[in-house]
Amino acid sequence: MLYVDFTVNSTNHILFEVLNGDIKNVVDLSVKSCTCKRFQMDQIPCAHVIAVFQKLHPPEGRIRVGRPKKRRCKAFWEKNAKTLKPIICGKCNQNGHNRRICRNPTTND
Ligand SMILES: [Zn+2]
Ligand SMILES: [Zn+2]
Repeated sequence: MLYVDFTVNSTNHILFEVLNGDIKNVVDLSVKSCTCKRFQMDQIPCAHVIAVFQKLHPPEGRIRVGRPKKRRCKAFWEKNAKTLKPIICGKCNQNGHNRRICRNPTTND
């Protein structure tokens, strides 16, 4: 997708003013139209519509800075999940303790 550098002013989440120097066009997302009429006629988004989309959905590389934190958190969690095994008692089948320290009375003995 080509990158256009227009000024986009949103009056609400449907109507957008796209300013290209002295030329102003209004994109209406509810009816998928632009005042330049190109969008309606051939169904190919005009540059103004593309500018609006860019404002709504900026490319990921432009907003992300630094290391992805999500990945590090997941790796940390996975590492701990491997080492922390759930303790299940072999005597009463309850977790949190093992059969050596089990204080529950056995039902099937
Ligand atoms: Zn247009
Ligand atoms: Zn037990």
